[in-house]
Amino acid sequence: MKGIEKAYFRRNIPRVLDELRKKQYDPHFFETIAEAKHFILDQISSGDTVGVGGSITLREGMGIVEEIRNKGNKVYDHWEADDEPVRRLELKRKHRGVDVFLSGINAITIDGILVNLDGGGNRVAGLCSGPPKVIAVTGLNKLVDSLDEAIERTRNKAAVLNAIRRKVKTPCVKTGRCSDCNSSERICAALLILLKKTSDIDHFFVVLINEEMGY
Ligand code: SF4
Repeated sequence: MKGIEKAYFRRNIPRVLDELRKKQYDPHFFETIAEAKHFILDQISSGDTVGVGGSITLREGMGIVEEIRNKGNKVYDHWEADDEPVRRLELKRKHRGVDVFLSGINAITIDGILVNLDGGGNRVAGLCSGPPKVIAVTGLNKLVDSLDEAIERTRNKAAVLNAIRRKVKTPCVKTGRCSDCNSSERICAALLILLKKTSDIDHFFVVLINEEMGY
């Protein structure tokens, strides 16, 4: 992300943090991925079980999964079982019972609404109910002005890029646009709009990083 863009986001971030606090989140802003990673690792206590939702930001952007394992925590990561459908589903089903659930965010509005789209449902479930502690992480390339823009970004950018990455046989991989398909390989089904922190989650961190991360 260029210096001017970073300066732009820096000026907007106080409003975003304020809106997130009003919605009962615990938001934190970091200039660098390294600072954010250090903070996230500090929020995970020894003995905590950790679930990691599907997220390029957490894996390619931060490389945080191995670091959590290195701390000695049990991690449930379904991306390590991509070629084992039964085990993959088992790992995803563990996510709702973990102590700490980590997730990316597909879009965040300037007034603090979080939007996520999911195919299996484990990620949107973990962001709503189950884990007592949630840590949602996003680069500021996901920041948009309105809920309409957030949904547009999520369906026509994040989902399409993820379909291309996963090499599925869906129309969007060819056209670059979502057509609300009926493909058997469709990757998106559940759209979660978090208007505020849900009451089932005790502590919900939103970690904002002044970098371009994920889709
Ligand atoms: S509904 Fe189908 S076309 Fe639209 S993003 Fe999802 S997989 Fe692609």
